Amino acid sequence: MNHFYTEDQISLRDTARRFAEAEVLPRAAAIDREDAFDRTIYRGMAELGLFGTSLPEVAGGSGFDTVGTCLVMEELARCSGAIGNAFAIPVEAALFLHHHGNESQKALIPSILDGSILMATAMTEPDYGSDTASITTSARRTAEGWVINGTKAWVTLGGVADRIMVFARTGKDAGHKGISCFMVDARQPGVSRGKNEELLGMHGLEDCQIILEDVLVPEEAMIGAENTAFKTAMGNFNFSRLLMSSMALGMAQAAMEDAVAYATTRKQFGGPIMGFQAIQFMVADMSTDIAAARLLIHHAARLYDAGQPYAKEAAHAKLFTTDMAMKHVSNALQIHGGNGYSRDYRIERLFRDVRLAQIYEGTNQIQRVIIARQVEKELA
Ligand SMILES: Cc1cc2nc3c(=O)[nH]c(=O)nc-3n(C[C@H](O)[C@H](O)[C@H](O)COP(=O)(O)OP(=O)(O)OC[C@H]3O[C@@H](n4cnc5c(N)ncnc54)[C@H](O)[C@@H]3O)c2cc1C
Repeated sequence: MNHFYTEDQISLRDTARRFAEAEVLPRAAAIDREDAFDRTIYRGMAELGLFGTSLPEVAGGSGFDTVGTCLVMEELARCSGAIGNAFAIPVEAALFLHHHGNESQKALIPSILDGSILMATAMTEPDYGSDTASITTSARRTAEGWVINGTKAWVTLGGVADRIMVFARTGKDAGHKGISCFMVDARQPGVSRGKNEELLGMHGLEDCQIILEDVLVPEEAMIGAENTAFKTAMGNFNFSRLLMSSMALGMAQAAMEDAVAYATTRKQFGGPIMGFQAIQFMVADMSTDIAAARLLIHHAARLYDAGQPYAKEAAHAKLFTTDMAMKHVSNALQIHGGNGYSRDYRIERLFRDVRLAQIYEGTNQIQRVIIARQVEKELA
């Protein structure tokens, strides 16, 4: 009997683990090498119902909870960070539409969950990343609908997406009060793929710029109310930070497993290097931080599921987990010695993939800003 997780959560985690070990792990190195999106694995995740675990059954989901979704992410990322990253996109998109979409947008949710419609989110621009309130992509109201112009950067799955949720400036007010979100068909006139992003890691996610030139969308393409999308996006970011944390956690767990397997077989000075206290202490610190990160993530996820405020706790989880994952993946590489620096061992890929987690979904500097502001408010 596990008192910390329900039987449903354990069963969901085990389903994800079986799929990840059988289907994802054997393909992970090839996805990294070929840098191409793996539709078979994406469909496999969809067929298992993994994209809808955070959605209630009335919305087409499987009605689990966010702790369950975090466990799924951890298992997927333990076998491939890039597949974990791909998993996050439909989960977040379906949830965003469930909360903020109109009826026709909500009608897309089943196709997102079954993998037949691929989504992407385009907020960041070449000149505005952390400072999203300053984006310059514009949407102008006309008699026929909204006309969108601008360039979006770093769009994950941008090269394969069917629909893109595009954030654009609609209000005259400067800053965050003048931003709206639109559902854009990736194949409609005026939408094109810009520069492909050649990435250090997380290969196979078709990350690219998206260029919007006089893209006409109907009035009903707006997701949520006019000029309110900054706030709704920030709410969504809190949720996605739980997923990013779980992604980094899965990679840290994989790194620890690899480090221990290597250290128990690699012999120097007449015995396994695991016998050296220097190695044992690195492993002990990994194990401690991984356990602490799991608690932070699942605490924040439980707050979300209970409808409690959780922005600070999500930022705690994201900051702590992604920093600890970077440190311990690096230490796991160190335990591999020269072999850690070689493509022959998985730790080299983990080292490249995990680095993104400190940048994505709000950099860790921004997480500190969020935490400090909240602490100041609470203690003032
Ligand atoms: C692989 C990848 C995939 C991505 N996918 C998507 C996607 O699908 N959709 C999307 O919209 N975006 C996506 N992004 C964009 C990502 O969210 C941004 O890169 C991130 O928010 C940081 O923005 P920036 O890169 O412009 O850095 P900047 O904002 O220019 O930051 C540069 C540095 O300054 C620091 N900094 C900035 N402001 C502050 C501050 N106020 N206080 C302290 N330090 C600060 C940052 O922490 C960072 O260290 C992706 C990025 C990458 C690399």
